[in-house]
Amino acid sequence: MSEITGPAAAALASLSPDNVVFLQSLPKAELHAHLNGSIPIKTILELAQQYSSSGAHTADVADAVEKLGSGADFNEISDFFFLMSVIYALTSTPEAVATVTRAVLQSFLNSTGDGAESPQCTYLELRTTPRMTTHMTRERYLTIVLDEIEKYPATQAALIVSVDRRMSDLDVAECVSLAIEMKNRGRRVVGIDVCGDPRKGNMQYFTQHLSRAKGAGLGLTVHIAELTENTTEDSLALLSCRPDRLGHATFLSDELKALFFADNPRPGTESSSLSECAPGTIDPHTPAELRDLTHPLDPRFQNIEEGYFLRFISDSAESEGAKLQMSFWADAEKFSERAAIKDIEETTKQAESPNNARANGQYKPCIEICLSSNLLGKSVASLDAHHIHYYLKNDHPIVICTDDTLPFRTSCLGEYSLLLAQPPLGLGLSRDDVARIARMGMDAAFLRPRD
Ligand SMILES: [Zn+2]
Repeated sequence: MSEITGPAAAALASLSPDNVVFLQSLPKAELHAHLNGSIPIKTILELAQQYSSSGAHTADVADAVEKLGSGADFNEISDFFFLMSVIYALTSTPEAVATVTRAVLQSFLNSTGDGAESPQCTYLELRTTPRMTTHMTRERYLTIVLDEIEKYPATQAALIVSVDRRMSDLDVAECVSLAIEMKNRGRRVVGIDVCGDPRKGNMQYFTQHLSRAKGAGLGLTVHIAELTENTTEDSLALLSCRPDRLGHATFLSDELKALFFADNPRPGTESSSLSECAPGTIDPHTPAELRDLTHPLDPRFQNIEEGYFLRFISDSAESEGAKLQMSFWADAEKFSERAAIKDIEETTKQAESPNNARANGQYKPCIEICLSSNLLGKSVASLDAHHIHYYLKNDHPIVICTDDTLPFRTSCLGEYSLLLAQPPLGLGLSRDDVARIARMGMDAAFLRPRD
Protein backbone atom coordinates (compact mmCIF):
# COMPACT_ATOMS: atom_id res chain seq x y z
CA MET A 1 0.00 0.00 0.00
CA SER A 2 1.23 3.50 -0.66
CA GLU A 3 2.62 5.46 2.24
CA ILE A 4 0.21 7.69 4.05
CA THR A 5 0.97 10.86 5.97
CA GLY A 6 -0.92 13.58 7.81
CA PRO A 7 -3.98 13.12 10.04
CA ALA A 8 -4.87 9.66 8.70
CA ALA A 9 -1.36 8.36 9.37
CA ALA A 10 -1.38 9.81 12.90
CA ALA A 11 -4.75 8.19 13.63
CA LEU A 12 -3.62 4.82 12.24
CA ALA A 13 -0.37 4.92 14.24
CA SER A 14 -2.34 5.45 17.45
CA LEU A 15 -4.44 2.28 17.02
CA SER A 16 -3.66 -1.02 18.71
CA PRO A 17 -2.68 -3.89 16.36
CA ASP A 18 -5.98 -5.51 17.25
CA ASN A 19 -7.95 -2.45 16.11
CA VAL A 20 -5.96 -2.27 12.86
CA VAL A 21 -6.85 -5.91 12.14
CA PHE A 22 -10.48 -5.11 12.92
CA LEU A 23 -10.51 -2.23 10.40
CA GLN A 24 -8.73 -4.28 7.76
CA SER A 25 -11.27 -7.07 8.11
CA LEU A 26 -14.30 -4.80 7.59
CA PRO A 27 -15.87 -5.00 4.11
CA LYS A 28 -15.47 -1.42 2.84
CA ALA A 29 -16.82 0.37 -0.22
CA GLU A 30 -14.75 3.19 -1.73
CA LEU A 31 -17.34 5.25 -3.59
CA HIS A 32 -15.61 8.61 -4.01
CA ALA A 33 -12.19 8.15 -5.61
CA HIS A 34 -11.04 10.21 -8.58
CA LEU A 35 -8.89 8.25 -11.01
CA ASN A 36 -6.36 11.01 -11.65
CA GLY A 37 -6.19 11.97 -7.99
CA SER A 38 -5.53 8.41 -6.86
CA ILE A 39 -2.46 7.55 -8.91
CA PRO A 40 0.25 5.97 -6.75
CA ILE A 41 3.33 8.21 -6.37
CA LYS A 42 5.52 5.50 -7.90
CA THR A 43 3.43 5.47 -11.08
CA ILE A 44 3.31 9.26 -11.41
CA LEU A 45 7.09 9.49 -11.00
CA GLU A 46 7.53 6.87 -13.73
CA LEU A 47 5.19 8.83 -16.00
CA ALA A 48 7.06 12.06 -15.24
CA GLN A 49 10.30 10.35 -16.19
CA GLN A 50 8.85 9.31 -19.55
CA TYR A 51 7.37 12.78 -20.01
CA SER A 52 10.78 14.40 -19.38
CA SER A 53 12.57 12.11 -21.79
CA SER A 54 9.94 12.81 -24.46
CA GLY A 55 11.25 16.38 -24.62
CA ALA A 56 7.90 17.86 -23.61
CA HIS A 57 9.21 18.77 -20.17
CA THR A 58 7.92 21.99 -18.64
CA ALA A 59 8.75 23.88 -15.47
CA ASP A 60 5.19 23.42 -14.15
CA VAL A 61 5.39 19.65 -14.43
CA ALA A 62 8.82 19.55 -12.81
CA ASP A 63 7.61 21.70 -9.87
CA ALA A 64 4.50 19.62 -9.30
CA VAL A 65 6.37 16.33 -9.44
CA GLU A 66 8.93 17.59 -6.97
CA LYS A 67 6.12 18.70 -4.67
CA LEU A 68 4.47 15.28 -4.86
CA GLY A 69 7.71 13.44 -4.29
CA SER A 70 8.56 15.45 -1.19
CA GLY A 71 5.09 15.13 0.40
CA ALA A 72 2.44 17.55 -0.72
CA ASP A 73 1.54 20.54 1.38
CA PHE A 74 -1.70 22.04 0.11
CA ASN A 75 -2.58 25.40 1.47
CA GLU A 76 -5.51 26.20 -0.74
CA ILE A 77 -8.00 24.25 -2.78
CA SER A 78 -6.63 26.16 -5.82
CA ASP A 79 -3.22 24.44 -5.29
CA PHE A 80 -5.03 21.21 -5.71
CA PHE A 81 -6.68 22.15 -8.99
CA PHE A 82 -3.33 23.38 -10.33
CA LEU A 83 -1.80 20.05 -9.42
CA MET A 84 -4.54 18.19 -11.24
CA SER A 85 -3.88 20.15 -14.43
CA VAL A 86 -0.26 18.99 -14.31
CA ILE A 87 -1.28 15.38 -13.74
CA TYR A 88 -3.55 15.68 -16.76
CA ALA A 89 -0.50 16.63 -18.83
CA LEU A 90 1.20 13.41 -17.76
CA THR A 91 -1.77 11.21 -18.65
CA SER A 92 -2.78 12.44 -22.10
CA THR A 93 -2.04 9.29 -24.13
CA PRO A 94 -4.03 6.02 -24.27
CA GLU A 95 -1.01 4.13 -22.92
CA ALA A 96 -0.65 6.46 -19.93
CA VAL A 97 -4.40 6.23 -19.18
CA ALA A 98 -4.26 2.42 -19.21
CA THR A 99 -1.16 2.47 -17.00
CA VAL A 100 -2.63 4.76 -14.37
CA THR A 101 -6.02 3.02 -14.34
CA ARG A 102 -4.36 -0.35 -13.78
CA ALA A 103 -2.17 1.10 -11.03
CA VAL A 104 -5.10 2.76 -9.26
CA LEU A 105 -7.24 -0.39 -9.38
CA GLN A 106 -4.36 -2.43 -7.99
CA SER A 107 -3.72 0.08 -5.22
CA PHE A 108 -7.33 -0.21 -4.01
CA LEU A 109 -8.22 -3.82 -4.75
CA ASN A 110 -5.06 -5.92 -4.64
CA SER A 111 -3.22 -7.14 -1.55
CA THR A 112 0.37 -6.01 -1.27
CA GLY A 113 2.88 -8.30 -2.96
CA ASP A 114 3.93 -10.03 0.23
CA GLY A 115 0.33 -10.51 1.31
CA ALA A 116 1.05 -8.63 4.54
CA GLU A 117 -1.80 -6.19 4.07
CA SER A 118 -5.34 -6.77 2.93
CA PRO A 119 -6.75 -4.74 -0.01
CA GLN A 120 -7.78 -1.19 0.83
CA CYS A 121 -11.40 -1.87 0.02
CA THR A 122 -13.80 -4.61 -1.02
CA TYR A 123 -15.59 -2.65 -3.72
CA LEU A 124 -14.51 0.41 -5.70
CA GLU A 125 -16.52 2.88 -7.76
CA LEU A 126 -13.81 4.79 -9.56
CA ARG A 127 -14.74 8.10 -11.18
CA THR A 128 -13.17 10.03 -14.01
CA THR A 129 -14.03 12.77 -16.49
CA PRO A 130 -13.92 11.50 -20.10
CA ARG A 131 -10.99 13.34 -21.61
CA MET A 132 -10.45 14.36 -25.16
CA THR A 133 -6.81 14.96 -26.07
CA THR A 134 -4.86 15.12 -29.30
CA HIS A 135 -4.26 11.38 -28.79
CA MET A 136 -7.81 10.14 -28.11
CA THR A 137 -11.53 10.86 -28.16
CA ARG A 138 -13.70 10.82 -25.04
CA GLU A 139 -15.16 7.48 -26.10
CA ARG A 140 -11.70 5.97 -26.51
CA TYR A 141 -10.70 7.31 -23.09
CA LEU A 142 -13.71 5.68 -21.42
CA THR A 143 -13.13 2.43 -23.30
CA ILE A 144 -9.54 2.25 -22.05
CA VAL A 145 -10.61 2.87 -18.45
CA LEU A 146 -13.48 0.36 -18.66
CA ASP A 147 -11.21 -2.30 -20.22
CA GLU A 148 -9.08 -2.14 -17.07
CA ILE A 149 -12.02 -1.96 -14.64
CA GLU A 150 -13.74 -4.95 -16.23
CA LYS A 151 -10.69 -7.12 -15.60
CA TYR A 152 -12.11 -7.23 -12.05
CA PRO A 153 -15.43 -8.90 -11.18
CA ALA A 154 -18.52 -6.70 -11.07
CA THR A 155 -18.63 -7.26 -7.32
CA GLN A 156 -15.32 -5.38 -7.04
CA ALA A 157 -15.09 -2.49 -9.48
CA ALA A 158 -17.27 -0.15 -11.53
CA LEU A 159 -17.05 3.23 -13.23
CA ILE A 160 -18.73 6.57 -12.54
CA VAL A 161 -18.48 9.06 -15.41
CA SER A 162 -17.77 12.57 -14.15
CA VAL A 163 -18.84 15.77 -15.81
CA ASP A 164 -16.87 18.88 -14.93
CA ARG A 165 -18.54 22.07 -13.75
CA ARG A 166 -16.53 24.05 -16.32
CA MET A 167 -17.87 22.02 -19.24
CA SER A 168 -20.07 23.57 -21.90
CA ASP A 169 -23.62 22.38 -22.31
CA LEU A 170 -22.59 20.41 -25.41
CA ASP A 171 -19.72 18.70 -23.61
CA VAL A 172 -21.92 17.68 -20.67
CA ALA A 173 -24.50 16.33 -23.11
CA GLU A 174 -21.82 14.32 -24.92
CA CYS A 175 -20.39 12.82 -21.73
CA VAL A 176 -23.83 11.83 -20.41
CA SER A 177 -24.78 10.33 -23.78
CA LEU A 178 -21.54 8.33 -23.85
CA ALA A 179 -22.19 7.03 -20.34
CA ILE A 180 -25.73 5.96 -21.26
CA GLU A 181 -24.66 4.35 -24.55
CA MET A 182 -21.87 2.42 -22.86
CA LYS A 183 -24.15 1.24 -20.08
CA ASN A 184 -26.67 0.11 -22.69
CA ARG A 185 -23.92 -1.79 -24.49
CA GLY A 186 -23.27 -3.73 -21.27
CA ARG A 187 -20.17 -1.83 -20.18
CA ARG A 188 -19.80 -1.33 -16.44
CA VAL A 189 -20.80 2.34 -16.15
CA VAL A 190 -22.93 2.72 -13.03
CA GLY A 191 -23.28 6.43 -12.43
CA ILE A 192 -22.71 10.09 -13.24
CA ASP A 193 -20.83 12.57 -11.04
CA VAL A 194 -20.59 16.36 -11.14
CA CYS A 195 -17.10 17.47 -10.14
CA GLY A 196 -14.52 20.18 -10.76
CA ASP A 197 -13.77 23.61 -9.39
CA PRO A 198 -16.74 24.32 -7.09
CA ARG A 199 -16.55 28.03 -7.92
CA LYS A 200 -17.24 27.45 -11.61
CA GLY A 201 -20.29 26.65 -13.73
CA ASN A 202 -24.03 27.29 -13.59
CA MET A 203 -25.71 24.15 -12.30
CA GLN A 204 -29.10 25.22 -13.65
CA TYR A 205 -27.85 24.20 -17.07
CA PHE A 206 -26.69 20.77 -15.90
CA THR A 207 -30.01 19.59 -14.52
CA GLN A 208 -31.60 18.43 -17.79
CA HIS A 209 -28.56 16.23 -18.52
CA LEU A 210 -28.43 14.82 -15.01
CA SER A 211 -32.13 13.97 -15.12
CA ARG A 212 -31.60 12.22 -18.45
CA ALA A 213 -28.83 10.11 -16.88
CA LYS A 214 -31.08 9.16 -13.97
CA GLY A 215 -33.89 8.31 -16.36
CA ALA A 216 -31.52 5.94 -18.16
CA GLY A 217 -30.90 4.04 -14.93
CA LEU A 218 -27.57 5.54 -13.94
CA GLY A 219 -26.85 6.46 -10.32
CA LEU A 220 -26.24 10.14 -9.65
CA THR A 221 -23.73 11.69 -7.28
CA VAL A 222 -22.76 15.36 -7.17
CA HIS A 223 -20.06 17.37 -5.44
CA ILE A 224 -22.19 19.88 -3.58
CA ALA A 225 -21.64 22.83 -1.22
CA GLU A 226 -17.89 22.21 -1.13
CA LEU A 227 -16.98 25.81 -0.40
CA THR A 228 -18.61 28.74 1.34
CA GLU A 229 -18.83 30.42 -2.08
CA ASN A 230 -21.30 27.77 -3.29
CA THR A 231 -24.68 29.47 -3.27
CA THR A 232 -28.05 28.16 -2.16
CA GLU A 233 -29.21 28.31 -5.79
CA ASP A 234 -26.26 26.16 -6.81
CA SER A 235 -27.17 23.53 -4.21
CA LEU A 236 -30.88 23.76 -5.01
CA ALA A 237 -30.26 23.18 -8.70
CA LEU A 238 -28.29 20.02 -7.92
CA LEU A 239 -30.74 18.80 -5.26
CA SER A 240 -33.63 19.29 -7.66
CA CYS A 241 -32.27 16.23 -9.56
CA ARG A 242 -32.51 14.15 -6.37
CA PRO A 243 -28.95 12.75 -6.50
CA ASP A 244 -28.52 9.33 -4.89
CA ARG A 245 -25.37 10.49 -3.16
CA LEU A 246 -23.82 13.85 -2.27
CA GLY A 247 -20.08 14.50 -2.31
CA HIS A 248 -18.80 16.49 0.69
CA ALA A 249 -21.92 18.64 1.35
CA THR A 250 -19.66 20.56 3.72
CA PHE A 251 -21.52 23.85 3.59
CA LEU A 252 -25.04 22.64 2.87
CA SER A 253 -27.19 25.14 4.76
CA ASP A 254 -29.35 24.15 7.71
CA GLU A 255 -32.43 25.29 5.78
CA LEU A 256 -31.64 22.97 2.88
CA LYS A 257 -30.89 20.06 5.19
CA ALA A 258 -34.19 20.58 6.98
CA LEU A 259 -36.11 21.02 3.75
CA PHE A 260 -34.66 18.08 1.87
CA PHE A 261 -33.72 15.59 4.58
CA ALA A 262 -37.10 15.91 6.19
CA ASP A 263 -36.60 13.59 9.13
CA ASN A 264 -33.50 15.38 10.35
CA PRO A 265 -34.10 17.51 13.42
CA ARG A 266 -34.16 21.21 12.92
CA PRO A 267 -30.78 22.84 13.58
CA GLY A 268 -29.94 22.96 17.27
CA THR A 269 -32.18 20.03 18.21
CA GLU A 270 -29.78 17.20 17.35
CA SER A 271 -29.46 14.35 19.80
CA SER A 272 -26.37 14.63 21.95
CA SER A 273 -24.73 11.31 21.19
CA LEU A 274 -24.70 8.66 18.53
CA SER A 275 -26.09 6.01 20.87
CA GLU A 276 -29.24 8.05 21.45
CA CYS A 277 -30.08 7.75 17.82
CA ALA A 278 -31.95 4.49 17.42
CA PRO A 279 -31.95 3.14 13.88
CA GLY A 280 -35.15 3.96 12.05
CA THR A 281 -36.20 6.67 14.50
CA ILE A 282 -38.61 9.08 12.88
CA ASP A 283 -37.45 12.51 13.63
CA PRO A 284 -39.00 15.00 15.93
CA HIS A 285 -39.53 17.79 13.50
CA THR A 286 -43.05 18.52 12.62
CA PRO A 287 -44.98 19.93 9.71
CA ALA A 288 -45.64 23.05 11.77
CA GLU A 289 -41.93 23.73 11.90
CA LEU A 290 -41.66 23.17 8.21
CA ARG A 291 -44.32 25.76 7.65
CA ASP A 292 -42.04 28.16 9.52
CA LEU A 293 -39.64 28.03 6.62
CA THR A 294 -39.33 31.22 4.77
CA HIS A 295 -42.00 31.83 2.22
CA PRO A 296 -41.17 31.09 -1.43
CA LEU A 297 -41.00 34.77 -2.18
CA ASP A 298 -37.90 34.95 -0.03
CA PRO A 299 -34.95 36.35 -2.09
CA ARG A 300 -33.36 32.92 -2.32
CA PHE A 301 -36.38 31.57 -4.08
CA GLN A 302 -36.52 34.57 -6.33
CA ASN A 303 -33.09 33.47 -7.44
CA ILE A 304 -34.46 30.06 -8.40
CA GLU A 305 -37.14 31.82 -10.36
CA GLU A 306 -34.44 33.73 -12.18
CA GLY A 307 -32.73 30.44 -12.97
CA TYR A 308 -35.88 29.08 -14.56
CA PHE A 309 -36.25 32.31 -16.45
CA LEU A 310 -32.72 32.07 -17.88
CA ARG A 311 -33.29 28.46 -18.87
CA PHE A 312 -36.56 29.38 -20.54
CA ILE A 313 -34.78 32.07 -22.53
CA SER A 314 -31.92 29.79 -23.54
CA ASP A 315 -34.29 27.00 -24.60
CA SER A 316 -36.48 29.31 -26.63
CA ALA A 317 -36.50 29.00 -30.41
CA GLU A 318 -37.61 32.62 -30.80
CA SER A 319 -35.41 35.00 -32.74
CA GLU A 320 -33.25 37.38 -30.77
CA GLY A 321 -35.47 40.20 -31.95
CA ALA A 322 -38.59 38.50 -30.67
CA LYS A 323 -37.02 37.82 -27.32
CA LEU A 324 -36.62 41.51 -26.85
CA GLN A 325 -40.33 42.16 -27.17
CA MET A 326 -42.05 43.08 -23.99
CA SER A 327 -44.82 40.50 -24.30
CA PHE A 328 -42.30 37.72 -24.55
CA TRP A 329 -40.49 38.85 -21.44
CA ALA A 330 -43.74 39.06 -19.52
CA ASP A 331 -44.76 35.53 -20.53
CA ALA A 332 -41.33 34.14 -19.73
CA GLU A 333 -41.42 35.77 -16.33
CA LYS A 334 -44.81 34.27 -15.56
CA PHE A 335 -43.63 30.86 -16.70
CA SER A 336 -40.49 30.97 -14.59
CA GLU A 337 -42.43 32.11 -11.52
CA ARG A 338 -44.95 29.31 -11.91
CA ALA A 339 -42.21 26.73 -12.42
CA ALA A 340 -40.24 27.89 -9.38
CA ILE A 341 -43.26 27.95 -7.09
CA LYS A 342 -44.44 24.56 -8.32
CA ASP A 343 -41.05 23.08 -7.52
CA ILE A 344 -41.03 24.57 -4.03
CA GLU A 345 -44.59 23.44 -3.34
CA GLU A 346 -43.75 19.91 -4.44
CA THR A 347 -40.69 19.80 -2.18
CA THR A 348 -42.63 21.12 0.80
CA LYS A 349 -45.50 18.72 0.16
CA GLN A 350 -43.14 15.76 0.14
CA ALA A 351 -41.49 16.89 3.36
CA GLU A 352 -44.82 17.45 5.08
CA SER A 353 -46.56 14.27 4.09
CA PRO A 354 -47.29 11.94 7.01
CA ASN A 355 -45.57 8.56 7.11
CA ASN A 356 -42.72 9.96 5.11
CA ALA A 357 -40.04 7.80 6.72
CA ARG A 358 -37.35 6.38 4.49
CA ALA A 359 -39.29 3.13 4.12
CA ASN A 360 -41.79 5.25 2.30
CA GLY A 361 -39.24 6.40 -0.23
CA GLN A 362 -38.07 9.43 1.69
CA TYR A 363 -35.15 11.24 0.19
CA LYS A 364 -32.02 10.23 2.11
CA PRO A 365 -29.02 10.69 -0.17
CA CYS A 366 -25.86 9.11 1.19
CA ILE A 367 -23.20 11.70 2.07
CA GLU A 368 -19.72 10.87 0.77
CA ILE A 369 -17.43 11.91 3.63
CA CYS A 370 -13.75 12.56 2.85
CA LEU A 371 -12.13 13.51 6.17
CA SER A 372 -8.47 13.97 5.16
CA SER A 373 -9.45 15.76 1.96
CA ASN A 374 -11.51 18.27 3.92
CA LEU A 375 -8.86 18.78 6.60
CA LEU A 376 -5.92 19.13 4.21
CA GLY A 377 -7.96 21.17 1.72
CA LYS A 378 -8.83 23.37 4.71
CA SER A 379 -12.54 23.43 3.99
CA VAL A 380 -13.00 22.04 7.53
CA ALA A 381 -10.87 23.35 10.40
CA SER A 382 -10.74 20.22 12.56
CA LEU A 383 -12.30 16.81 13.11
CA ASP A 384 -14.33 18.36 15.90
CA ALA A 385 -15.85 20.86 13.47
CA HIS A 386 -16.50 18.30 10.74
CA HIS A 387 -20.04 17.92 9.37
CA ILE A 388 -19.80 14.14 9.82
CA HIS A 389 -21.04 14.74 13.39
CA TYR A 390 -24.32 16.19 12.11
CA TYR A 391 -25.02 13.20 9.89
CA LEU A 392 -24.02 10.64 12.51
CA LYS A 393 -26.23 12.25 15.13
CA ASN A 394 -29.13 12.31 12.73
CA ASP A 395 -28.73 8.72 11.58
CA HIS A 396 -28.29 9.87 8.00
CA PRO A 397 -26.45 7.49 5.64
CA ILE A 398 -22.78 8.24 5.02
CA VAL A 399 -19.87 6.53 3.32
CA ILE A 400 -16.19 7.05 4.20
CA CYS A 401 -14.05 7.84 1.16
CA THR A 402 -10.55 9.00 0.23
CA ASP A 403 -11.34 11.47 -2.61
CA ASP A 404 -7.75 11.80 -3.88
CA THR A 405 -5.16 9.55 -2.28
CA LEU A 406 -2.31 11.06 -4.30
CA PRO A 407 -2.27 14.63 -2.96
CA PHE A 408 -3.88 13.84 0.39
CA ARG A 409 -1.61 10.85 1.06
CA THR A 410 -4.33 8.73 2.60
CA SER A 411 -5.96 5.32 2.18
CA CYS A 412 -9.27 3.64 3.07
CA LEU A 413 -7.63 2.19 6.17
CA GLY A 414 -6.33 5.65 7.09
CA GLU A 415 -9.79 7.22 6.75
CA TYR A 416 -11.43 4.51 8.87
CA SER A 417 -8.67 5.00 11.45
CA LEU A 418 -9.88 8.58 11.81
CA LEU A 419 -13.25 7.17 12.95
CA LEU A 420 -11.86 4.71 15.49
CA ALA A 421 -8.87 6.60 16.95
CA GLN A 422 -9.42 8.45 20.20
CA PRO A 423 -9.72 12.27 20.11
CA PRO A 424 -7.97 14.47 19.23
CA LEU A 425 -6.48 12.15 16.58
CA GLY A 426 -9.83 10.62 15.67
CA LEU A 427 -13.54 10.70 16.41
CA GLY A 428 -13.33 7.97 19.07
CA LEU A 429 -16.27 5.95 17.69
CA SER A 430 -16.93 2.41 18.92
CA ARG A 431 -16.16 -0.63 16.79
CA ASP A 432 -19.91 -1.21 16.44
CA ASP A 433 -20.45 2.29 15.09
CA VAL A 434 -17.54 1.96 12.66
CA ALA A 435 -18.87 -1.40 11.43
CA ARG A 436 -22.31 0.18 10.96
CA ILE A 437 -20.79 3.03 8.94
CA ALA A 438 -18.92 0.53 6.74
CA ARG A 439 -22.20 -1.30 6.09
CA MET A 440 -23.91 1.96 5.16
CA GLY A 441 -21.16 2.53 2.61
CA MET A 442 -21.65 -0.89 1.05
CA ASP A 443 -25.39 -0.25 0.91
CA ALA A 444 -24.88 3.05 -0.94
CA ALA A 445 -23.01 1.48 -3.86
CA PHE A 446 -24.66 1.98 -7.24
CA LEU A 447 -23.98 -1.62 -8.19
CA ARG A 448 -25.18 -3.02 -4.85
CA PRO A 449 -22.28 -5.48 -4.52
CA ARG A 450 -23.86 -7.25 -1.56
CA ASP A 451 -27.05 -8.18 -3.40
ZN1 LIG B 1 -14.14 14.60 -5.10
